[in-house]
Amino acid sequence: MRSLKNLLVTGGSGFIGTNFIRHVFSNDGFAGKIINIDKLTYAGNTLNLVDINEKYGGKRYFFERADITDLNISLEVFKRYAIDTVVHFAAETHVDRSISSPTQFIFTNIVGTFNLLEAARIVWKDRKDVLFHHVSTDEVFGSLGGKRRFTECTPYDPRNPYSASKASSDHLVRAYFYTYHLPVTLSNCSNNYGPYQFPEKLIPVMIESMLAGKPLPIYGDGKNIRDWLYVEDHANAIWHILKRGDFGEKYVVGGENQWENIKLVNRLCELVSEETGLLEPSLKGLISFVKDRPGHDLRYSIDCKKIKKGLGWKRTVILDDGLRRTVKWYLENRKWIETVINDQDCQRN
Ligand code: NAD
Repeated sequence: MRSLKNLLVTGGSGFIGTNFIRHVFSNDGFAGKIINIDKLTYAGNTLNLVDINEKYGGKRYFFERADITDLNISLEVFKRYAIDTVVHFAAETHVDRSISSPTQFIFTNIVGTFNLLEAARIVWKDRKDVLFHHVSTDEVFGSLGGKRRFTECTPYDPRNPYSASKASSDHLVRAYFYTYHLPVTLSNCSNNYGPYQFPEKLIPVMIESMLAGKPLPIYGDGKNIRDWLYVEDHANAIWHILKRGDFGEKYVVGGENQWENIKLVNRLCELVSEETGLLEPSLKGLISFVKDRPGHDLRYSIDCKKIKKGLGWKRTVILDDGLRRTVKWYLENRKWIETVINDQDCQRN
């Protein structure tokens, strides 16, 4: 089992990065340091880790506001903190934004990943006691028909600028393994949900719209299927890969919770109603079907046998429990919502 000392987390102030950092610090098996590099786009906020910074800041937690497309900064950070492990989350992640303005997706997701790989190659040279873990998405595999599921062998078939940029970064990571023997691992995960997700993605958008009495827009006929994974289970999957994953290997990770979007939104209406007393029929009455997203993949589903059997990981949270926890978190953290939305508006102005 690998031991980790100085862990560089990119995009640690975003949704999954935040949950991952929290997960690692709550893990008895970790005594090292975490260095979080984040540019703090609209999707990242230092508020997410205020308590972690108070407890560990300057001793075991270090934050660097930086852009991963800047090679010199990455080189500096690799050397200054003697980085031995990278978990690379930083990315532009919202599919709709990638359709309306793709440029930043190319810079951050492709050029940013390339520069981090370069920094690792230059600083680590031929070391084999190090690891670069790249966090990717199942969206690189495109859309599934029938009853098939994505596995580690599924060919790439991205359909929108976000998934194409992530696919491209995956290829670079694999190329650095084959060409330079850089010790890498890669994971392709299904849709995550849980605390600290910026309110632009399906679940927080729906919760926020219900509370505001606004329409609940669902693309197309609502029959698109996603495989939902509670974010803490994803954080734990990455931890398993860091500890036991084999160099050059890819792991697909999913929640084994496949629901149609319309079923998910209906269930959210019921949970919000139970937790707030708002009337369920009124909430369901807010559902409206809108023109489908261009290139909208129909179904994602993951066969995660490899990480389960090979590394002993399993998901622990079923969708219904995770949704209730998520609804409660958004209801209990109104200040967080207001702040992240306000900070986004300030960045725009
Ligand atoms: P997010 O949008 O919530 O967070 C991204 C973070 O990256 C933010 O903190 C942002 O400030 C930072 N960032 C963006 N551009 C940067 C740059 N140029 N330099 C430094 N930092 C930058 O994203 P997320 O949902 O937490 O996703 C994290 C990773 O996991 C991404 O790589 C994404 O592709 C992957 N992923 C996400 C999901 C999901 O359902 N959310 C599923 C599978 C894989």
